[in-house]
Amino acid sequence: MDLKTKPIIVVSECLGFSACRYDGGRSESRLVQELSPFVEFITVCPEVAIGLGTPRPPIWMVEQNGQQRLIQPETDRDLTGKMEQFAEKFLNDLSLVDGFILKSRSPSCGINDCKLLDSPDNTEAPIGKTRGCFAACVQDKFKDLPIESEASLKDDEIRQRFLQKVFARAIERM
Ligand code: SF4
Repeated sequence: MDLKTKPIIVVSECLGFSACRYDGGRSESRLVQELSPFVEFITVCPEVAIGLGTPRPPIWMVEQNGQQRLIQPETDRDLTGKMEQFAEKFLNDLSLVDGFILKSRSPSCGINDCKLLDSPDNTEAPIGKTRGCFAACVQDKFKDLPIESEASLKDDEIRQRFLQKVFARAIERM
């Protein structure tokens, strides 16, 4: 496939590209590996991008005064503004993008399944699930693009629909 016609997919960097997880590890996605020859990946680790080191103290989505905030309890920092600023610039700078594969359950990248706490001190008893701070910015900006996680893409129907959409968008550019 010609490079110009390859779908362009933004992917969480820890999905096989870099050991950038908070614990210094990396995750793997067989689909991401298998797609590599056929798509152009743009990798991003939003937590590293906002200056959190690797490894780093964990961060959480926390409901405070009716708002969901990105909090690092160990340093008592609210990272919401920093993450939203990074996301706005990163997403505005994308000239072409056909879809996103984001890491599940992350307080930054999770698209719908990261833990929501009612207190940063209460990490053992989440009150629900929510979107990660970076993923929320992606979903709000790119409402028409396919956005999935490596976990959701294990479902045959979701994967098929995702791939059809990203390849159709690339073919439209030919
Ligand atoms: S889930 Fe997102 S923020 Fe966390 S390590 Fe992976 S790419 Fe970085």
